[in-house]
Amino acid sequence: MIFIDTHCHLDAEEFDIDRDSVIHEAKKTGVDIIVVPAVHVSNFTKVRALSEKYSFCAYALGIHPIYVNQSSPAHLALLKTEIEKDLKENKSIVAVGEIGLDYFIEDCDKDCQEYYFVKQLKIARDFDLPVILHVRKSVDEVLKHLRKIKVRGGIAHAFNGSIQQANEFVKLGFKLGFGGAMTYSRALKIRQLAVELPLDSIVLETDAPDIPPEWLGRSGRNGPGELIRIAQVFSDIRDTNITQVAEMTTNSALTALPGLVHLCTPPQVLL
Ligand SMILES: [Zn+2]
Repeated sequence: MIFIDTHCHLDAEEFDIDRDSVIHEAKKTGVDIIVVPAVHVSNFTKVRALSEKYSFCAYALGIHPIYVNQSSPAHLALLKTEIEKDLKENKSIVAVGEIGLDYFIEDCDKDCQEYYFVKQLKIARDFDLPVILHVRKSVDEVLKHLRKIKVRGGIAHAFNGSIQQANEFVKLGFKLGFGGAMTYSRALKIRQLAVELPLDSIVLETDAPDIPPEWLGRSGRNGPGELIRIAQVFSDIRDTNITQVAEMTTNSALTALPGLVHLCTPPQVLL
């Protein structure tokens, strides 16, 4: 069984005191690959360095919608040159991310978010890289841009929309990320989605240190090691077995982020 945490902010300062042991612990519990998305140019070096230290960590570079007011067009130029360099040097860069639209945050500047989102979608398209999407209260707007700028798919992380919206993402070649939110027994809507969506459209994630699963409490620090228990909850909700969950979600992750294929030992062949 191979498990992939498709979204984990391992570079976050919450892990500064014990990052190495968090990573070793996750490996011990059975997490095979961890994808670390960037959120701002200031953490590009850190996410890349993690992938250099740990061969099973991959990364994405991008500017998160929450950080667009701390960004400038020069950062987009930097993003482009860094991606180009990393691809040339065969680094474990697997996507452009985390990018998207967040209309939930207070004082959100929709025009500014849209500007950075569109620019980054074009960068992903030009490098033929998938994208890791942050979508909050903005599902239809994100879909609108994806229909215009054809990227090679990717993941809509921490998905929380309707089944119809989920199907639109799937049609555009995206997988949907599920994690801690579905572990809450009262999270009926998201659990319903996790049951109704085809198993081959779902990938697993922790979004650590955020979105702690129910057993950690709302204020607990989430970690990549929680992925296996999240997978178990998912397999219980769907009334299937953990082996099938591992097989299908890993296959979906490798389809969404083909750069992960060479991180699997032994190398995986897509189903
Ligand atoms: Zn994230």
